[in-house]
Order: sequence, then C-alpha cells, then structure tokens
Amino acid sequence: MTHDNDTNENIQGQSLGELCAFCHGIAKEKGFWDSERNIGEALMLIVTELAEAMEAHRKQDQANFQEELADTFIRLLDLCGGLDLDIESEIAKKCRKNMSRPYKHGKIC
Ligand SMILES: [Mg+2]
Repeated sequence: MTHDNDTNENIQGQSLGELCAFCHGIAKEKGFWDSERNIGEALMLIVTELAEAMEAHRKQDQANFQEELADTFIRLLDLCGGLDLDIESEIAKKCRKNMSRPYKHGKIC
C-alpha cells in the first residue's frame, strides 16, 4: 500500500471531528503547535489560503484552485482540533438556526 492510499484511508469517510484530529496531528508533528498559537494569525492564514484560491480561480488554474481550497479546510480543521472545538455540534446548531430563518434570511436583496 502506498503512502497516498494510507492518507486517503485516513481521510475518506471520517467525521469532521476525526478530520480535525487528523489534520491537527499532522500540524503538531510538523512543529506548528510547539509554542502557543496566535489565534488571530491562524485565522488570517486561513484567509490567505482563500486568497490563494481566488488567485488560482482568476488564473483559471483548476488544479491549484482545488489545492488551495484543500489548504483552507486543512488549516481550519487544524485550528478546530488545536482548540478542541466540537465543530460538528456547532455546525449542526448553526444549520438548525439557519433552517428556522426566513427565505434569504428576510433580506430583500
Ligand atoms: Mg496554499
């Protein structure tokens, strides 16, 4: 089995909580949590990945666009893992809230 197959098996079919633990484990192993994280910086690094996705989209580079979206998720999952957040519960709670809101959340435009 190749390393790629191992990684695919670690990711596919996993819950968000499990993906948080997996991505956070990699980041910890690579030294990104050796000292206390600056949460503002971590959030801006997530935004940076979205900016990179925007640039790839602008250049019509689909492969890079997809990779930058993956980077965005990886950084976000790592942050949630590092903060030990139950992001699945938070998403479920927010989806219930959104479903109870009116069409276009009551906004005209
Ligand atoms: Mg990137």
